[in-house]
Amino acid sequence: MEAHRGLPAYVPGEHAEDGRLIRLNTNESPYPPPPAVQQAIAREAANLGYYNDPDCAALRRALAGLYGVAPENVICGNGSDELLYLAFMAFADACHPIVMPDITYAYYDLFAAALGIPIERIPLEADFSVDPGRYVGLGKMIVLANPNAPTGLALSPGDIAPICAGNPDSVVLIDEAYVDFGAESCLPLIAQHDNLLIVRTFSKSRSMAGARLGYAFAQAKLIEELDTVRNAVNLYSVNRMTQAAGVAACAENGYFMDNCARIMASRRFATDGLRALGFEVIESLGNFVFARCPQMPGAHLAAALRERGILVRRWDAPRIEEYLRITIGSLEEMEALLRAVREILG
Ligand code: PMP
Repeated sequence: MEAHRGLPAYVPGEHAEDGRLIRLNTNESPYPPPPAVQQAIAREAANLGYYNDPDCAALRRALAGLYGVAPENVICGNGSDELLYLAFMAFADACHPIVMPDITYAYYDLFAAALGIPIERIPLEADFSVDPGRYVGLGKMIVLANPNAPTGLALSPGDIAPICAGNPDSVVLIDEAYVDFGAESCLPLIAQHDNLLIVRTFSKSRSMAGARLGYAFAQAKLIEELDTVRNAVNLYSVNRMTQAAGVAACAENGYFMDNCARIMASRRFATDGLRALGFEVIESLGNFVFARCPQMPGAHLAAALRERGILVRRWDAPRIEEYLRITIGSLEEMEALLRAVREILG
């Protein structure tokens, strides 16, 4: 018996613990979590002998307070990946496909494959944008990363509202993993749309990728349905230290938003610098840029950067094989990137 037969494998960005490498391949934050978050984790470790709160009550209260919703509108998970998987499990199945762009976050494919859910793909436009009109009136679950990964392009809430209204009996999942870097959130839409589910993460703008903490917003009924599935498969998925870290992080929101502003400034610097070197760079609203160097194949460039200790992400996939997705790190890291590219291009 081989229950896993045929499942594709997710190939994550190279995991590097070597501090000499510059990690621009997994969209992490270059900044550490603030001391209050680190202290909260250390304090909570003393209570490890006790089970964690399965409802994440304190954390949901903190997030609700920060974003002006009720705790009933919030659910937390082990990274946003867990919430995405649970949402697929809750709202789609073999007879109810998921619709998504042909180029988007690669893990969606694997979640769907693991759950036997067919995917219908709508191609991105020639400029890699999403045409929202193509998602109206489908009557199927829709999944959109907004900003999209790996392009960094985003739709506005004004584009997404008609998608929610135009598929009233299906869940519209908006993955806002990268929303804090300049895009406009769809959160205000949840009051009018009972089918809208917004998934977020502490991994990017809040420097906590290693803590595994995601959260989602929706009307209470949708959250309850998602929670039923979560309770059925992994009730205690958000561990004690992570819950404490999340509560502390909500109180330090200014620290994180300042870092986001720094990353957006570094993104401007990197975008302009790469363009000056001849790159085509998509104007990104994420903590990464998607860029192509007309003078050199993407695979060569990625390998040459790796030789110089800089990791970037690339996919052998149609339409995007010449592109690199480069995480926006600190300004110093972006300077190192541009120096290396200059050297490689001679
Ligand atoms: N959504 C998107 C679009 C992503 O790029 C990522 C990060 N790879 C995730 C969700 C998952 O993030 P996490 O599980 O760390 O919250």
